[in-house]
Amino acid sequence: MSGVLGGGGPPTAAVVARLPPTLASLGPQPGGAVVRVLDGLDRVPALPEGVDECPPSLVEAIDDVCRDFTEDHRFFRPSMVFGCKRQSVFHHRRASADNSKQNPKMLRILANGTAVHEVVQNYLGRHPGYWFAPESKVAVEVEGKLIRGSCDGVMIRRSDLYRFGVEIKSINDAGFRLLKSPKDAHVAQASLYARLHGLPWIVLLYWNKNSQDLKEFPVRYDPQRWEDTKARIRELGGYVDRGELPEYDVNTCSTEFCGYLRVCRKNGAPV
Ligand code: SF4
Repeated sequence: MSGVLGGGGPPTAAVVARLPPTLASLGPQPGGAVVRVLDGLDRVPALPEGVDECPPSLVEAIDDVCRDFTEDHRFFRPSMVFGCKRQSVFHHRRASADNSKQNPKMLRILANGTAVHEVVQNYLGRHPGYWFAPESKVAVEVEGKLIRGSCDGVMIRRSDLYRFGVEIKSINDAGFRLLKSPKDAHVAQASLYARLHGLPWIVLLYWNKNSQDLKEFPVRYDPQRWEDTKARIRELGGYVDRGELPEYDVNTCSTEFCGYLRVCRKNGAPV
């Protein structure tokens, strides 16, 4: 049984029919064009008539978040679900991760990817025509298992509250040049976020780490992909419930970026 515990309501037909604007158009604009175009739109929408509610307690809100840290959540990550199956199962089991085998170059690559995310999030957060919610968190039970993660951001147009999700991928020049369409695992991940956040569209934005060029691919929510995703989660959940591990698969193993190398080797993988 699937249930949405967070995220927005179902999209209207009118919203579904609209493509998101290009992300390239949302970066800094020359000559103050953004200010002229968006004059008068940079306001929070008015409260409905008659609403005069005292704000909820911020102390309680902070306590809620702190309590969440101490609870024993076991969950799958959207960013892992479509990669190595063993990695997802280790993560759900809370196997001890060990990054000591990652070499300094890999750590620099990871840091570079994080920096690219922050740069893009900073650009999008400064566009006056949109609210940008970076790292939009979601926690949803799907097929009896908790899925928890953060979409890189949600853009919400101030004028009419139209919204779409953003997933950022940094990529080297060789991969970028070959990119004619988004990578399938990224589309699957984007579709999962679209479903969990109730968004009709997610834009996959690729950043070339060598040239700083950008490519973007709007991905529409696809109900068939959702069925495939549920099947994948049922499969992963089955391993968790039976206390088993998926077979080692050389095609999805990426030891450079995996924190479970040691435990995976102990469990028979030739890594
Ligand atoms: S070492 Fe390879 S096979 Fe094992 S969990 Fe990591 S990525 Fe998967």
